[in-house]
Amino acid sequence: MTQALQQAGIAYREGEPLSRHTTMGVGGAAAVMAFPRSPEELRATLEIRADLQAPHRVLGGGSNLVVADEGLDELVVNTESMRAVTIGEDGRVTAEGGANLIRTVLQTTRAGWRGLESAVGIPGSIGGAAVMNAGAYGFSISDVMTEITVYDEDGQRTEPPEGWRFRYRGSSIPEGAAVASLTAQLERGDTEDLAEETRAIGNRRRATQPGGRNAGCVFKNPPEGHAGRTIDALGLKGRRRGKAVVSPRHANFVVNEGGATAADVLGLIEEVRERVRAATGVELELEVKVWGPRS
Ligand SMILES: Cc1cc2nc3c(=O)[nH]c(=O)nc-3n(C[C@H](O)[C@H](O)[C@H](O)COP(=O)(O)OP(=O)(O)OC[C@H]3O[C@@H](n4cnc5c(N)ncnc54)[C@H](O)[C@@H]3O)c2cc1C
Repeated sequence: MTQALQQAGIAYREGEPLSRHTTMGVGGAAAVMAFPRSPEELRATLEIRADLQAPHRVLGGGSNLVVADEGLDELVVNTESMRAVTIGEDGRVTAEGGANLIRTVLQTTRAGWRGLESAVGIPGSIGGAAVMNAGAYGFSISDVMTEITVYDEDGQRTEPPEGWRFRYRGSSIPEGAAVASLTAQLERGDTEDLAEETRAIGNRRRATQPGGRNAGCVFKNPPEGHAGRTIDALGLKGRRRGKAVVSPRHANFVVNEGGATAADVLGLIEEVRERVRAATGVELELEVKVWGPRS
């Protein structure tokens, strides 16, 4: 693998700790982490992987991930170096998969384009946002998306505008495929109004969400309910395992207070899920993705 990456001129590191690349800050090492710098290098990386039949994952900003302590004996394709964003005069914005979502929101709103502002506090990459159909306050990224370029795990390009089934915090983009770029159509807006709106959203988030190391909401809201309120009603805020704690500010967040292991985080998540199941009969579904050795 490393020889093929080297020959193709694609940057990589061996034994790279995933805890350095996830907002939760837990997780062992990836056997090999590749850093393609463009959609072309992304495609070449996936083709190398396919030729060698090596297992792999695609990593964005790591803001929705809990990675197991034992790490992954796999290739991890890190998209962080693919971050070009272009804004057309007609409000069409095209961002590479690794572009940071918050920076893209600020770049577009400061240029007077409306459409992405509700996503201002959502960390991670454009590609991760597409796969997760990230959103907030009634907005989802698929609302403004007009095109998406995805390479499947063999590196074949597909450009299905309507092909991927975007739903609440998810899509049908399969694991192993990689979002190379996304295009959104934005509308003209007033820069001062947009600045005010993004400031207000930032303040609202800071008032309701914990700081520190976490991976956002742990569970999806069940169809007829609210995961955080259900967990709170069971008195689980502040519940801890090792250095992992159910946030006292927002019960649907687990925070790594510093030095938590993935086992702490996952154990606590399982305990919360079990307590909710026992008390209410509701089976909470994970919103965070868990990466561990494949069985
Ligand atoms: C403090 C905090 C607040 C948050 N608030 C919100 C919120 O309000 N709304 C919300 O929706 N989410 C929220 N999140 C969760 C998270 O930010 C989003 O799910 C985000 O879109 C994940 O993007 P990422 O690049 O970090 O993905 P990662 O965590 O790197 O990966 C998540 C999944 O996406 C896949 N993936 C990543 N990049 C690509 C790519 N280029 N191609 C193919 N697959 C890819 C990965 O394989 C993985 O399956 C929050 C997280 C934190 C830490």
